[in-house]
This record gives sequence, structure tokens and C-alpha cells, in this order.
Amino acid sequence: MSEAIQSLRGMNDILPPHSSRRARLLQIIRQLLQQFGYLPAELPLLEKTQLFKRTIGGETDIVSKEMYSFDDRNQESITLRPEATAGAVRAMIENGRLQQITRLFVEGPMFRYEKPQEGRSRQFTQVSVECFGLANPSLDAELIAIGHELFTQLDIREVVSLEINSIGLAAERKAYQAALVQFLSAHIEDLDEDSKRRLQTNPLRILDSKDAKTQEILNQAPLLHDYLGEESKAHFAQVCGILEKLGIAYHINPRLVRGLDYYCHTVFEWTTRELGAQGTICAGGRYDGLVEQLGGKATPAAGFAFGIERIFMLWENMHPIDMSYPDIYILATGIEEQAEAMRWAMEIRRARPDWQIIVHHQLQALKKQFAKADAAQARFVLVFGSEEVQQGLATLKNLATGEQQQLDLAAVIAMNIEE
Ligand code: ATP
Ligand code: MG
Repeated sequence: MSEAIQSLRGMNDILPPHSSRRARLLQIIRQLLQQFGYLPAELPLLEKTQLFKRTIGGETDIVSKEMYSFDDRNQESITLRPEATAGAVRAMIENGRLQQITRLFVEGPMFRYEKPQEGRSRQFTQVSVECFGLANPSLDAELIAIGHELFTQLDIREVVSLEINSIGLAAERKAYQAALVQFLSAHIEDLDEDSKRRLQTNPLRILDSKDAKTQEILNQAPLLHDYLGEESKAHFAQVCGILEKLGIAYHINPRLVRGLDYYCHTVFEWTTRELGAQGTICAGGRYDGLVEQLGGKATPAAGFAFGIERIFMLWENMHPIDMSYPDIYILATGIEEQAEAMRWAMEIRRARPDWQIIVHHQLQALKKQFAKADAAQARFVLVFGSEEVQQGLATLKNLATGEQQQLDLAAVIAMNIEE
């Protein structure tokens, strides 16, 4: 036997039955977004590398070390998308869609070259939700409310919490950054290595540092909030006011800045303690300057992304979900009976699209076939023996109660199996 080829590190297969439960989660999310007026958009997985460099920012983790970039056959540098917002902005500009308000979502794989671990892979899935054309703080609150609604529907609301912050406007952040750098420079010897480096490259990211000593120093550092102007403060106050009105509990985290360069005003993260170190399950914020930065006409915008793997893990841990079991498992005693059984199965599937009907193709002894139906955890078995088939009947057995009866096709189709 030749050696088997393995998948790339951090690239996972998603197989049944896991895959079908995950599909259900995505279905719930699509339906919810549709309710809020967001429609699905499909964008390329590959974009020019420059798109991400210009939007996400050269000093961020994503661009500095996580991108899957390579030259195509034409020696042009292209990148597998690490996130979907940059592509969405490009698409809006390129397709002339900035005249009107647009709500869309992009669902699919994202790629980041990170150290694979539980809750962190190199190919992962996001549903990225974007709204273009609205500067109102009420939009920020509504985007947060979508997450709140999903987590409530999934019944995981009690184990997630919402952190929000305002990072104001670029000029305000610049003034704050200068103050922060001045403060931290006085403590440079005590900072962790990453933070020392970031002092030169991306000082705001130091606020994210998990290092205990750095955190201690940060407790005394100037606060971003004190550098916000009246307009930024009013914007944030309105977001908070609406969240309160909607009954959405939040925690203001003055150090939440998010890793990407393009955000302004409201930023937020939904986190959980149930998933260990990979606790952020959804994150986003406002990005008013991004469209213009990419060469479009100035357009306010905001969005967020659901991290599907982590939300799924949390949902599954909290509520082990029923697998998809067959409603009817079909057995037959011979080739002719099986052909008739398959004719019935086709009719039943047409009439009852919600039922899952499995034909047991192997014509073994009936006892063996029954054992397979049991193993598959089917609800009903439908047996086709030669005498029954001649009378146009089959035997239906309820595997939970052992009850059985002979029925014709119309009676099977008319069954009420929901109770
Ligand atoms: P983290 O701090 O965990 O690296 P991030 O800030 O890089 O997250 P975002 O760019 O905000 O993540 O992406 C939004 C969401 O996508 C995250 O909250 C997370 O749920 C999910 N996500 C990001 N990177 C990964 C990954 N490598 N594997 C699985 N999910 C991921
Ligand atoms: Mg990351």
C-alpha cells in the first residue's frame, strides 16, 4: 500500500453527522440575517494582496504574519482572504453600489496562517455582516442586537458577554497614541517583548497584551475615552442608550481596540469563558473611513463577523444536539421486493420532503437488516416481504414501541409521525 497523503496543518475536514448540525447553525444564522434585511453575497476567495495590505494595515497580526499570499502564474501577488470586509468594500466600489444603503452578508472560509489549536485553525468559517451607507449609532446597536438575538435563539446567551468600546476618530486616536507612547516609553524595560516591538509599530495593540506585568503598567496608562471629542462621545452614548433600551447587557472595556486598522467609533466583541483561550466568538465595529481609503466615495459603514467554529463548539457543548436519524428505514426480502420498496420510497420522499428515508440495500437475513435499522437509530422500519408486496402492502414497525401494522402506500404517506 502506498503512503496516505494527509491534509495541510490547520485545515480540517467537516464530515457527517457533525457537518449536518453545523449546516443547521448556518441555516439559523441566514434566516436571522434575512429578518434584519441582510442578503447573501458571494465574493472571491482570492484577492490581490494589496487589497488586504491597504485595508487591514501592515502592522496588524493578519498582514504581518498570517496571510496566505503567493504569486500566481502571472507573477502577481494574490492572497486567500483572511477576512471578508475588505473584499466587500472592494465589491461595493467596483460594482457602483454606494449610491444606496446596502446590507449584505458573506459566508464562507477565511484563511490565516496561525498556530492551529482548539478553536483556531488555518481555514475557518465566518459569516461577515456588513452595512454600507449609514452613519447612525443606531446601526451599531442593531448589529450588536443581531448577535444578541442569535445567542438567545441558540440558548447560549448566559455564557457569552458583550464588550464594547469607542475608539473615536483617527485624529483622536492619534493624539491618544502619542500620550500612550509617551507614558509607556517611561516603562519600556518592564514591557513584554511583543509590546516593546509594538511601541514602534502599532502602540494601540499593546492594550491587548495578555502579559501580567504589562497589564499592571497599563492600569496607570491614559485612557482613550479621555481623548474623544464631543461627537464621538455622543455617538457612543447613543449606542449604549439603545442597548439598554433593548435589554442587552454590555461591559465597557476601555482597552478594547480590535486588531485591525480600519475601525472607528464603536468596536465590540462577544466572548465566552467556556472555550478556554479562544473565547471571542464574534467581533466587529464601525469602519467609516474604509471605503474612501480604498478609492470609493466617502461612505459610512459598519459590520461584524460570527466565528462559526467557535459558536458551533459552544452551542454543541451546551446543548448536545440530536443527530439526524432516519425516519423510515426500508428492508426487503428479495430483489423484486426491493424494487417495489424503492418505488414506494421515491413516492414517500416526494410527498413528505421532511422525512429522511434510508433504503437498506444489502439483502441479508431480515434479522441482520433489523439490527442495522436499530444501529441507525431509525424511528420506523418498513418491511417488504413477498406476500405483502403481492397485496400492495408493507409492514411498518415502530422501533420504540415495537408496534407493527400492515399499510398501503397512501397510508404510509398520510402517517403523522411528529408526536
Ligand atoms: P483572535 O483574537 O481569536 O485571533 P481575531 O481578532 O483575529 O480573533 P477577527 O478577525 O475579529 O478575529 O475575526 C472574527 C471572529 O472570527 C473571531 O472572533 C473568531 O471567532 C473567528 N476567528 C478568527 N480567527 C480564527 C481562527 N484562526 N480560527 C477559528 N476562528 C477564528
Ligand atoms: Mg487573530
